[in-house]
Amino acid sequence: MREKEKKYTLFNNVRYVYRTLYEVCPKMRLGVYGTVFFNLVGRVVGTVTLAAAVASITEKGKVSHYLMVMAVMLAVYFFCRLGSQYIKEWSDYYYETTQNREFLLKLVKKSLRTDYDNVESPAQQRLLTRATHAVHMYRQGVNLMYINYPLIVATILGILLYSLTISYFDWRIMVIVIVMSIVSSLLEARSRKFRADNMDNRYKIWGRFFYLKQQTTSLVNGKDIRIYNMADWFRSGFDRLIDRNRELTVRHSRRKYAVDVSDAVFVAARDMLAYGILVAGVLDGNVSLAEFALGLGVVSGLAEWFGNIRYHISYLLEGNLMICEYRKMMDVPDKFMRKEGMSIPDEWRKRLPDIEFRNVFFRYEEDGEDILKDISFSIKSGEKIALVGNNGAGKSTLVKLLCGLYHPTGGEILIGGHSIETLNLDEYHDLLATIFQDINTIPVSIAGNVSGRIEDETDMSRVRECLIRADLWKDVEILDRKERTNLTQSFDPDGIELSGGMIQKLMLARCLYKDAPMFVLDEPTAALDPIAESNMYEEYKKATQGKSALFISHRLASTKFCDRILFIEKGRIIETGTHNELLEKKGKYAEVFEIQSQYYKEGGAGDEEA
Ligand code: ADP
Ligand code: MG
Repeated sequence: MREKEKKYTLFNNVRYVYRTLYEVCPKMRLGVYGTVFFNLVGRVVGTVTLAAAVASITEKGKVSHYLMVMAVMLAVYFFCRLGSQYIKEWSDYYYETTQNREFLLKLVKKSLRTDYDNVESPAQQRLLTRATHAVHMYRQGVNLMYINYPLIVATILGILLYSLTISYFDWRIMVIVIVMSIVSSLLEARSRKFRADNMDNRYKIWGRFFYLKQQTTSLVNGKDIRIYNMADWFRSGFDRLIDRNRELTVRHSRRKYAVDVSDAVFVAARDMLAYGILVAGVLDGNVSLAEFALGLGVVSGLAEWFGNIRYHISYLLEGNLMICEYRKMMDVPDKFMRKEGMSIPDEWRKRLPDIEFRNVFFRYEEDGEDILKDISFSIKSGEKIALVGNNGAGKSTLVKLLCGLYHPTGGEILIGGHSIETLNLDEYHDLLATIFQDINTIPVSIAGNVSGRIEDETDMSRVRECLIRADLWKDVEILDRKERTNLTQSFDPDGIELSGGMIQKLMLARCLYKDAPMFVLDEPTAALDPIAESNMYEEYKKATQGKSALFISHRLASTKFCDRILFIEKGRIIETGTHNELLEKKGKYAEVFEIQSQYYKEGGAGDEEA
């Protein structure tokens, strides 16, 4: 069950973002104070310059005095401009490194370490994408908040200061400015709400766009796209997305335009009224010329502050929406334990205790059907179990449960009598050498793929030994850089691609390198030719001696090196026993075996052995 979603308020999010920034780089505070100071003072100087010039002439009447006042004004003004620019560059630099190191890396870490089912479902994948937008992109999420928050503080101070000054002239001007600004803000809020409501649609569009872009530029589907002439499909996909995006943009622009038009009307009305009051003051003799100049400056300055604050707030709120997504992702609760869980006893690392599935049920969707139904079996310490059954029977799902990637929706999985949910999952993972069905290599060296470590921490002679045992060395030996050759060209233009069969051998080498007490192999030979497959079985047989193993195949004959066979159908274990026992039983296993052996009679890998 998902924990009730926390609400992240704006205030709370601002604090969160700034606390994180300050923790990493305390100097960042200076950046914020500096931004506030220079913005405020710079604008004030801009506003009072005209009044000061008028005063220097009307009151003293000397050119030298005028020049001096103007020189001081200009100097302060330049100082503020340069200061705010310098701070901007300086803090952008610090900000960028902090953003990447703290926000992005934390997210990466979370997404790689959180319970697997927290990132696997499409809904969680979408949340993860949105969270990434919040921290990874320029002018998004954290960046929007970081830029706009100090400016809002400066603006609020500016509004207070200018309001006080205006009230000194005539409080009616104040009322006019405030009322009109509030009306504009309400209009603005309407357009913003529309944008927020449509954020989900936008993300969907962006997500699909990203997918299409990736597919059309990657090599993986390049062959099929050409042969099956799918280019039109992609083009129309792009067209549709662009149209939908444009439709949303147009609707949003209309609302924004309404704000702009009403704004222009209000600004004109406000200025006319305010200036009218000031001019009347001059005619009455209550307001001096210098005061009049100051009044004009403050009225238009205040209007500008109000305009700015709306703009900054709307960006801040937009950033805030994204921070909410980021924090939602960061706070997705993990149900498996790690450090706080039970530490794995040392003797388990040599020999795994019994594993027991006790009335385990599992479903992917909360309201979906059960994929595994009342599964109960055990793998005794050192026992090798074969799990066989047709496609879609639930074999791979069961493996992922055993590996602590999913939580059972019912029942429990016990390791040495302890529920898997109480163990330190990281340490438990140390006990497993796995090959999953959807294998993939990572774009590092062959040796790195085998050891799962960086090169400094890799035992190269052991890597070779494992490659030899996995029958891959003959292919690696002939490469210029041998086991240091990088895989794929994602990072290295000289990287190489392995065939499906070679990748499966590489995976075997990885299992051998890890030398864990339990092997979990999900169809590890599907891409191999029969002879390579049969060699591989021999190697598995040797490698798993004295270890526990769960071996999956839809090829029944391939599992004879196992002690016991579980036959699974539609999520239920319907038969168990040795190969011969199951044949004698003449049940489902015997039936499927009979059908399969007709196909595999010649050279079938498992058939040599009785
Ligand atoms: P097997 O490995 O025996 O071929 P799987 O365990 O992969 O079977 O799949 C069992 C059932 O669960 C299938 O009906 C499959 O469609 C479904 N299934 C597998 N993975 C997922 C998933 N990530 N989300 C939803 N359903 C899934
Ligand atoms: Mg499978």
